[in-house]
Amino acid sequence: MDRRTLIKLLAATAVTGCGPSPSEKKALKVVVAGAGIIGASVAYHLASAGASVTVIDKQAPASHASRGTFAWINATWAKQPRSYHAFTQDSVAYWHQLQQALDLPVRWSGSLEWYSTAERQEKLVGQIAEQIEWGEPARMIDSSEFAELEAKVLFSTGSSAAYSPNDGTVDPIVATQKLLAAAQSLGATIQYPSELTDVTLANGRLVAVETSTGTIATDRLVLATGAAENVIATMADIEVPQRTKPGIIVITKPMPRVLQRIISAPGIHMHQRDDGRIVLGEQDGAPQNEAHALRLEGRPNDYPSPVIAHDHANRMLAVAAQFAPDVQAAQVEAVYIGWRPLPIDGHPVIGSSPNRPDVYVAIMHSGVTLAPIVGQLAARELLTDTLVDSLSPYRPERSFEMIKRY
Ligand SMILES: Cc1cc2nc3c(=O)[nH]c(=O)nc-3n(C[C@H](O)[C@H](O)[C@H](O)COP(=O)(O)OP(=O)(O)OC[C@H]3O[C@@H](n4cnc5c(N)ncnc54)[C@H](O)[C@@H]3O)c2cc1C
Repeated sequence: MDRRTLIKLLAATAVTGCGPSPSEKKALKVVVAGAGIIGASVAYHLASAGASVTVIDKQAPASHASRGTFAWINATWAKQPRSYHAFTQDSVAYWHQLQQALDLPVRWSGSLEWYSTAERQEKLVGQIAEQIEWGEPARMIDSSEFAELEAKVLFSTGSSAAYSPNDGTVDPIVATQKLLAAAQSLGATIQYPSELTDVTLANGRLVAVETSTGTIATDRLVLATGAAENVIATMADIEVPQRTKPGIIVITKPMPRVLQRIISAPGIHMHQRDDGRIVLGEQDGAPQNEAHALRLEGRPNDYPSPVIAHDHANRMLAVAAQFAPDVQAAQVEAVYIGWRPLPIDGHPVIGSSPNRPDVYVAIMHSGVTLAPIVGQLAARELLTDTLVDSLSPYRPERSFEMIKRY
């Protein structure tokens, strides 16, 4: 069987599950707005099941959160409650299949995590105990085992760290591009730059979307527009309260291997890809001062100047070098500002708008972890007109409470 047939078979089986066969639904026209990792996965699964898919992006594929992301694939302690943990576990499992089918650059290294205060460490021990109860192979390890796993990372004797062997990382830009390319090979059209500007309804049903590059006739619209302001309210006629916040990601030039696993150390996250590039993420957000507030106005994805970007990157490298001294020699290749699409309760928002049933919302944090399962289940709902039970906690019409998970 050739690769194209395998891709089609895998995704079509995954999408349909029950209900009408893909061919019965193949005339359905779907526009996916947003070519980040979520839009790309939804488009791929829709195209695999025979839908007529057009993906539009106002800028370019993987130009926003799916570029400026740490890209840690995990179902660790932050995924609460248990049903959300199980949902993310399913996505982690599905990543393995997609990786094989599409040759995606995922590295399954596991992660090591620890904190600087006794109080937080104690909490971590409790969180790992819960993970074990929930079926994760996570465990606390001591400094001698840590040294065996991570020879080039300094770790105090007597301390303990959480080891989660199932975790992985992905190059999110390449993964997005490959999902889109696979969708395209199955007949999808990708258009950018093309901004969704309006929807046209007739008798309450969607008939077309307006874009900066023209009108597209469509039966369904998927909003995978990430942290973009006002899009959900305007296009889906529903409020999804978000507390979007920025994070800085530094990518170094390729260097000899320093890090084996994902390291979540006090103040810094880091991992090294198979291509040798180290990815650094800050644990804390930008300082709350006027200069930063001004710089962040309008939610830029890049720094106002390369000098400021490199200053920030060098500060992050210095923090990383406290734990992995070899990282100090790294040369910075890119510095991104990523804006987290973050519904205020920290959970995804997935499903049709109750006010515009043909408009489907897919907005979330941990979108790198969740992209496979969300693409699969959203496509199933869109193509079979059924509701998938495991998505029921994430509907756009739920009442949102502020819960800080990240
Ligand atoms: C600093 C940081 C670290 C993170 N770390 C992790 C992690 O370790 N693990 C993890 O799982 N998740 C992580 N996340 C979250 C994850 O990156 C996001 O959840 C995910 O990338 C969201 O993907 P998306 O496709 O929904 O959004 P995006 O990638 O933001 O894509 C949305 C797209 O929509 C387009 N768009 C917006 N408006 C319109 C319009 N009107 N018309 C057309 N196109 C439009 C934009 O141009 C953009 O390309 C992190 C995020 C950040 C910022």
